[in-house]
Amino acid sequence: MDRREAVLRELNLYPAWVRREQPVVKTPDVTNEPPQADVFAPAPMHEVSSGDSLREFQLKNAGGALGSLTFPELKEKVRGCELCSLRSGRTQTVFGVGNEQAHWLFVGEAPGVDEDATGEPFVGHAGRLLDNMLLAIKLKRSEVYIANVIKCRPPDDRHPHVGEVASCLPYLKRQIALVQPKIIVALGKTAASALLHTDATIASLRGRVHDYQGIPLIVSFHPAYLLRSPMEKAKSWQDLCLAVETMNAGSG
Ligand code: SF4
Repeated sequence: MDRREAVLRELNLYPAWVRREQPVVKTPDVTNEPPQADVFAPAPMHEVSSGDSLREFQLKNAGGALGSLTFPELKEKVRGCELCSLRSGRTQTVFGVGNEQAHWLFVGEAPGVDEDATGEPFVGHAGRLLDNMLLAIKLKRSEVYIANVIKCRPPDDRHPHVGEVASCLPYLKRQIALVQPKIIVALGKTAASALLHTDATIASLRGRVHDYQGIPLIVSFHPAYLLRSPMEKAKSWQDLCLAVETMNAGSG
């Protein structure tokens, strides 16, 4: 039994199976975000060359006033951010981690106690489960990029409020524009709702390929939820299989 099979067995995900092809579902990019000072200020259009595709144009101009920031500049901006009340409870901001040119982008909700202490997303039990999920599809943490919608830990690890998501989302959008991943996996309702601008349930969003500005997006469960509901791990594996199939189809 090789290492991957051992991990799949540990996750109750063995034997592995392959999904059939699923249709792409376009989700309209309409936002109800309230206006926010600074990050929603009108921004000059990023210079676009005549050879750019529509997707490249959209990515280059994502993130509003943040649209011209480099990765180091964006990190610095987040580090000093005081746009919402979550600033007061943080030990530090949790920006994101991984390969900044990764093909895979995983998006979670917000830092918890371990992330707040270390400054890295997805550490602790949920982080170890995510690492095992990555291993199951033959990926290492260093090969993907991982970020949260919210960069500061909410008090008592509550779900972030709408205004907090609206304040912080432009940072994630700029991260996506900089990474330019080939696929996004939204882990949990907060990530899915923020990127797809929908209040639909995870159950109704799973099992389909969505679209985020030309990038295929798969919705799945947050690892913290899987720790509380281990019976859902099989569905999570279905989502990962769909993501791998979508990635393979896109690069074929
Ligand atoms: S959660 Fe986001 S918007 Fe709020 S203070 Fe932290 S970095 Fe700024």
